[in-house]
Amino acid sequence: MSLGKQTVGVIGAGVMGTGVGQDLAQNGFAPILVDSEQAILDQARRSIRQAVRAQALMQPTEQRQPAGAVLERITFTTDAQALAAADFVIENATEDTTIKQEIYAALDGACPAHCIFIANTSCIPITRLGSFTDRPQQVIGVHFMNPVPLKKTVEMIPGVHTTPETIEKTKALMAELGKASVVVGDSPGFVSNRVLMLTVNEAIFLIQESVAEPKDVDEVFRACMGHTMGPLETADLIGLDTILNSLRVLQDELGDPKFRPCALLTKMVDAGQLGRKSGQGFYSYA
Ligand code: NAD
Repeated sequence: MSLGKQTVGVIGAGVMGTGVGQDLAQNGFAPILVDSEQAILDQARRSIRQAVRAQALMQPTEQRQPAGAVLERITFTTDAQALAAADFVIENATEDTTIKQEIYAALDGACPAHCIFIANTSCIPITRLGSFTDRPQQVIGVHFMNPVPLKKTVEMIPGVHTTPETIEKTKALMAELGKASVVVGDSPGFVSNRVLMLTVNEAIFLIQESVAEPKDVDEVFRACMGHTMGPLETADLIGLDTILNSLRVLQDELGDPKFRPCALLTKMVDAGQLGRKSGQGFYSYA
C-alpha cells in the first residue's frame, strides 16, 4: 500500500516522542511534536540536534543530513489543536492510563475523522485506549523500540475493534520509516514487555540482595548470553519511571503478584534516579 506523504502528529516529547519525531523528519515527513511542557520541547530540540550529529559520525557522507535541516521539518508546539490536519497521531505520553485517557478523549475533537491514532505504550491494552475514543476501529498499538531511529522492527498490536484497513495503513507508514511490523495480540505488555519487565525487575532484585554489581549482571547477559545490552543498562535507557509504571500496569491488569515492583526500583524513582534521562540510574551519565 502506498500512502503518499502523510501529516503525522506526535504527542509527548520525552524519550520516545523525541525519537519518533526525529525518525519521521529524517524520512521526509514534517511531524508536529506536541508536549504539555515548553521546557520539554526545548530539550527535545537539543536532543534531536545532538542525536542527528552523533548519527552522522557513523554514516557515509552521502547519507548525512544536517541537524538544522532535520529540525526545520519539525513543528514544536504545546497546542494540540495543531493536529487539525493530521492523518496519523503517534501518542507517546507518560505510561499512565489516566493521562492517556484525557489525551485520547481530546484527540477525537482535535483531529480529522479519518485520522488514525497510534499508541506507543509499553503495557496498556490497546482495546482500553480505543475505548477512550469515538473511533476504536482507527486505534492501533505500535510499540517502537528505543532508540527509535536505529531500530528497524516494531511490535504492532490491533485492538478488538481495529480494522484491517487501519492495520494496513499503519504498516505502510512503518514501511516509510524503513520498519518491519510484527503483529501480536492485545494483552498487557504484549509480547516484549510481558517478558522484558519481569527480567528487568528480577535483575533489580539481584542488586537489592547484593548478589552482584550492575556491571556484572549486565556482563553476564552480554558476554555469556550474547545479548547486545544487559537488563540494567536497558532499564536506564528506557527510564526507571517507565519501568515502574509498566510493572504496575502489568500487576493490576494481570492480577499476578510476580509483577510487583522491586522496592529498590521504587526508591530510585522516588530519588529522581531515572536512568539516562536524569543522568543517574544504575550507571552515571555525567
Ligand atoms: P517520558 O516520560 O520520557 O515522556 C513522556 C512525555 O509525555 C513527557 O515529556 C510528558 O511531558 C508528556 N506528556 C504527559 N502528558 C501529556 C499531555 N497531556 N500532552 C502532551 N504530552 C504529555 O516517557 P517515554 O519513555 O517517552 O514513554 C512514552 C510512552 O512510550 C509510554 O507509554 C511508554 O510506556 C512508551 N514506551 C517507552 C519506551 C522506552 O524505552 N522509554 C519504549 C517503548 C514505549
